[in-house]
Amino acid sequence: MKKKILDADRKITVQIAEDAELELRLKRIMVPPGKKITLRKDYDPTFTAGFKSKKDAQKKLEQNIAELAEYQDILYAQDTYAVLIVFQAMDAAGKDGTIKHVMSGVNPQGCQVFSFKVPSAEELDHDYLWRSMKCLPERGRIGIFNRSYYEEVLVVRVHPEFLDHQKIPPTARENIWQRRYEQINAFEKYLFENGIIVLKFFLNVSKEEQKKRFLERIDQPEKNWKFSTADVKERAFWDTYQTAYEDCLNHTSTEWAPWFVIPADAKWFARLTVSEIIVRTLKQLNLRYPEVSAARRQELQEIRKLLEAES
Ligand code: ATP
Ligand code: MG
Repeated sequence: MKKKILDADRKITVQIAEDAELELRLKRIMVPPGKKITLRKDYDPTFTAGFKSKKDAQKKLEQNIAELAEYQDILYAQDTYAVLIVFQAMDAAGKDGTIKHVMSGVNPQGCQVFSFKVPSAEELDHDYLWRSMKCLPERGRIGIFNRSYYEEVLVVRVHPEFLDHQKIPPTARENIWQRRYEQINAFEKYLFENGIIVLKFFLNVSKEEQKKRFLERIDQPEKNWKFSTADVKERAFWDTYQTAYEDCLNHTSTEWAPWFVIPADAKWFARLTVSEIIVRTLKQLNLRYPEVSAARRQELQEIRKLLEAES
């Protein structure tokens, strides 16, 4: 009996220590709202928090995937909240693989993924948030944006000539990046206040690791299809992108929609960290299956009797 209590105590102590360690780690990964960060100095793409290998992190990742599936089931049943997960990154940072692995346990009916590419002629005929609005998750769902409206302050900032296609009035061009940050913050606040929880992940891959992954895409025939010459052209703008990302993180990480800078040189650690943040967020929502009223319970019992009486 005593041993049982001791074991239970030990389990709780281990759990508390793990939770505290995770909180500390997530604090380092979250971009603190209202504070200024320096991407290169404050966020190390190779960080793995003491985990040594993929194998080392596997059990925890599997546990998170299972937990995520459980929470998602309640999210769906409760039909009150939705979760919008935004992924942004340089090419070959592992967005696709992260989405595939982390969401692998989730019921496909409760999850939607949208990939945002260069805007079409129809999309350019609208304001820049229009195409995202159409893809927002319904209550009870997890919606994933593989790239997003953030491209409007990232790729468009790196290539300001893209603005020429956007048909915006000349006055809208004044102070455009600052204005877009404010518009995005207001948009996300609106979502949050209406029960749509926004999580934003920047998969932070290093320039060296990107090169390594591009070379693999060239050298390994089964990866050839992933390689695009355009990606190498964008790589030439690496520093300009880093500056655009840094400025974006500094202006759009808010209490209601924080940014997380995910160390992404080790793919397995990026997946583990993303899964941890999603699970933690769902946990904090205090999700509950809908309560069934006494009258309905009574009704269910009546139906049960009828079913049992069937010959
Ligand atoms: P992968 O390369 O892994 O398949 P990806 O997200 O890079 O995934 P691509 O089809 O290669 O997909 O590229 C999409 C391109 O569309 C990116 O270069 C991105 O910057 C660009 N894009 C997305 N949104 C906008 C936008 N609003 N304006 C201009 N370009 C955009
Ligand atoms: Mg690409």
